[in-house]
Amino acid sequence: MNLSAAFHGAKYCWMDGEVVETERALVSAMEPIYLGIFEGIKAYAQGDIGGEGKLSVFSWGQHMDRLWRSAAIDGLKMPYSRDELLEGLRAVVRTNGFKSNTYIQPRIWPMANDPEEVHVVIPVWRFNTLLPAKNPDFSKPRRFMVSSWRRISSDALPPQAKSWANYANSQLAIREAKRCGYDSAIFLDSRGFVSEGTGACLMGVRDGRLITPPVTASILESVTRNFFLEFVHSELMIPADVRDITRAELYACDEVFLCGTGGEVTPITSIDDIVVGKEYPGPATRRISDYYSEILAGKVEKYSSRLTPI
Ligand code: PMP
Repeated sequence: MNLSAAFHGAKYCWMDGEVVETERALVSAMEPIYLGIFEGIKAYAQGDIGGEGKLSVFSWGQHMDRLWRSAAIDGLKMPYSRDELLEGLRAVVRTNGFKSNTYIQPRIWPMANDPEEVHVVIPVWRFNTLLPAKNPDFSKPRRFMVSSWRRISSDALPPQAKSWANYANSQLAIREAKRCGYDSAIFLDSRGFVSEGTGACLMGVRDGRLITPPVTASILESVTRNFFLEFVHSELMIPADVRDITRAELYACDEVFLCGTGGEVTPITSIDDIVVGKEYPGPATRRISDYYSEILAGKVEKYSSRLTPI
């Protein structure tokens, strides 16, 4: 198999301290892979987030905080510092010659008998952004269902750690949704309250207020969700409530969208075939996406410290 092709043409990645050809970044097939963690991070072209330019990583510090938290929860020891990982990332982006939006996925794999002995790999690949709201892809219809699978709970497999194992639960929901003819799924938590999407957090809008489930609803502590909660009220005058949301309330929302590094802002057209609100994508969803795009492109001075140049 051509591993480079699997990484969207990124010829090089970083592994265990050096830039190597992706095809040579190998871990033995004899290693068990059930315990391992990762991060999903994006670097955007500054000035024009759909084009080419100098790249800056969004929320590097917050992603590193979570990576170290995930390692602590899973009992793994990180063998490199944040600065070493940042230098590794810079080297691999430079060696690949990337000048447009780049996805970065640091992966930590513990070896069979020793959780203190880990491999660290940083694959990178290019992605197309859904943002800003005028991008035609942003407004594509997206039909979601409420999954019959519940989100993993923190007394069994903690969703707060970004572990590979958690995504087996997501895959069950995605496959069920596809079999049933939907684009994707929304999880309820073990109590029956709304949790999150399969790889992103959920936000709704009701009567002009943003609502989103709390961390105790089995969600990943999302960098994007936390950031939106930081600016929606102060900058866009949209009040936000972090609280439990019932399934019925989802159907009654004026707008529902997912937020996350990968999905950015992903508007949802219908849930269980019940059309969400009157306008798609809704006005708050558009405003948040447009403002977020400006921040990612480095155009909002107030949040420039969120961007780390590559
Ligand atoms: N929930 C899950 C299950 C995810 O995989 C992600 C993507 N990392 C998110 C939420 C959103 O998190 P973030 O905003 O940090 O990307």
